[in-house]
Amino acid sequence: MEIFDSKNNCCGCSACEQICPKNAIKMKPDDRGFLYPVIDNSLCVECGACKRVCAFQNGYEKNRAQKAYAIKHKDFNTRMTSRSGGVFIAISDFILEKNGSVYGAAFDDDFSVCHIRTTNKSERDRLKGSKYVQSNVKDTFSNVKQDLKNGMYVLFSGTACQVGGLKNYLKNTDTSKLYTCDLVCHGVPSPKIWKEYLNHCEKKYNGKVTNANFRDKTLGWNAHKEAIWIDGKKYNSNEYAYLFNDNYISRPSCFNCKFTNLDRPADFTLADFWGINNILPEFNDNKGVSLLLVNSSKGAEVLEACKKDIECFECDLQKSAKPNPNLYMSSQKPKDGDYFWNNYEKYGFEKALNKCYKKVFWVKLKIRIREKSNKVKRIFKK
Ligand SMILES: Cc1cc2nc3c(=O)[nH]c(=O)nc-3n(C[C@H](O)[C@H](O)[C@H](O)COP(=O)(O)OP(=O)(O)OC[C@H]3O[C@@H](n4cnc5c(N)ncnc54)[C@H](O)[C@@H]3O)c2cc1C
Repeated sequence: MEIFDSKNNCCGCSACEQICPKNAIKMKPDDRGFLYPVIDNSLCVECGACKRVCAFQNGYEKNRAQKAYAIKHKDFNTRMTSRSGGVFIAISDFILEKNGSVYGAAFDDDFSVCHIRTTNKSERDRLKGSKYVQSNVKDTFSNVKQDLKNGMYVLFSGTACQVGGLKNYLKNTDTSKLYTCDLVCHGVPSPKIWKEYLNHCEKKYNGKVTNANFRDKTLGWNAHKEAIWIDGKKYNSNEYAYLFNDNYISRPSCFNCKFTNLDRPADFTLADFWGINNILPEFNDNKGVSLLLVNSSKGAEVLEACKKDIECFECDLQKSAKPNPNLYMSSQKPKDGDYFWNNYEKYGFEKALNKCYKKVFWVKLKIRIREKSNKVKRIFKK
């Protein structure tokens, strides 16, 4: 049995591992740190369940995005500790208030990222904030199934490929109490490289990582810098942000993503509202605005119930989606291809990081100088 023919066709959602009736599949990391299913042929009975469940290759049930909203959570602290406007907290509160369970991506004790099940607000707060690394969903799909069988309300949040995988996995389950959120996603970086980066910070600043934030909002919502705390002291950097934003460390399937469009697997799609200044400038205080796409009647019903906790404006769907490229196309492989990986394999992380950082830095500097000189030219023309 072969589940995928090329790494471009496996997003690592793990639906195949969790659906296998013989436990013959285990997700194992490759040399770049991405999880792929590996079959134990001595247990496999070739039933084909693993191939059938694959949302990446076979498609998924589509909810067409219907409406777009600009949203800010009314609680300022909630917004500051979320990536964009904190809309996820309002949605998940709705489920927790019904004694339901909320699933999403959290840091583990060692700052690796995995999906967890939460049933109260303090645990759920661990899901706040985007972690720009692929989350390991572990056995959460089977836990969701169990919760639904027990009659609970469930909210599952994750990348669109994870939500697509979950929904295919639940094909024969009653999902009337299941609510789902997917994210607009630039691509998921390698967990191995995230670990390498944390080790690099520990060496550089001579201590232990005690906290991490992939985008430090205290510098403004637009600032693309991470914050790492070493023994409680905060250090800002854009080294990891450069690798992530320039797609050097993304999973191969992210360049072949099937979910970068307005046909969404989830009831909601969450994103940063990057076009807010052209649509609703007075709403932008540089502390974060969420773009929320409502894709189903279930989504519309929850949004209505959340309105007490959020400031919310309906916006034109097409105009709101346009400035967010990953709503209509996959991220592109870097022009220099596997430059990071080739250097990583040859020289190790430090050198690969250094080389890519310098490249991105010079490209960004050139763009900035060109923009500044165009501005000066325009002033002189007047
Ligand atoms: C890898 C990644 C790439 C992204 N790329 C873009 C982009 O290109 N454009 C854009 O507009 N938005 C992108 N986002 C989404 C954006 O960062 C915010 O998550 C979104 O705006 C919601 O913000 P919030 O304030 O409501 O919630 P936040 O508090 O920021 O996010 C919480 C939610 O994100 C989920 N989450 C966090 N990390 C992960 C992860 N590693 N895997 C799966 N789920 C995760 C949690 O489960 C929870 O549902 C990306 C998110 C991730 C994780």
